[in-house]
Amino acid sequence: MRVKLVLSALLFMLMAAATGCESGHRWGVHDMERPLPEVVVAGEYPGQAPSDAIVLFNGTDLSQWESVEDGRRAKWKVANGYMEVVPETGDIRTKQSFGSCQLHVEWATPAKVTGESQDSGNSGVYLMSKYEVQVLNTYGNRTYADGMAGAMYGQNPPLVNVCRAPGEWQSYDIIFRRPVFMLWLAVKPARITVLHNGVVVQDNFEIEGSTVWKKRAKYEAHAAKLPLQLQDHDHPVRYRNIWIRELE
Ligand code: MG
Repeated sequence: MRVKLVLSALLFMLMAAATGCESGHRWGVHDMERPLPEVVVAGEYPGQAPSDAIVLFNGTDLSQWESVEDGRRAKWKVANGYMEVVPETGDIRTKQSFGSCQLHVEWATPAKVTGESQDSGNSGVYLMSKYEVQVLNTYGNRTYADGMAGAMYGQNPPLVNVCRAPGEWQSYDIIFRRPVFMLWLAVKPARITVLHNGVVVQDNFEIEGSTVWKKRAKYEAHAAKLPLQLQDHDHPVRYRNIWIRELE
């Protein structure tokens, strides 16, 4: 009996050593049994949607979007492969809801600059309709740091100002981890990484709460998935090539 026990213990140790299995790890190091990641076909150029992305806007119509105001047809203009904010028609949001995600958005502020500070090409990308990555012309346009393009609005300035000139197309690549709530408490705050024109401007920033104007942000518990929202801030900002990949 004792010999049997010792032999089984030895066998277990040998197997553990062979597979590299350790406590706390489901798979051993270089474990051939570990499931392989799914094959995804990348786009031909940076920013092009890969094969498993959900395309939210491909330049032709707003069928994936609706008006935030009344939940009906999104009233922004579509022309020449882009959508454009029609001032005072209100924010638009996706019909589908998302939580943690990878998001690609391209945008351009108006070529003709008519205002300054926050009044120049203002719009915004709201993750889960709540957390705004600011869209603004900050090419030679001075404003408060936590309201610049690439800022988590009112919370964290971009690490660098990599904004292109008004009228030029720019990109955001965003990796967003949704917050997790227990009752009313954000036990796991949201986190965000943003690349603006391919440059990291938010580096795994811990979001402090829902975006508000001129106040400290705080969390309010919400669903695990909510629509993505784009802001109408009275400026004819353009968007194109918007796609998303869910990360949960
Ligand atoms: Mg904004």
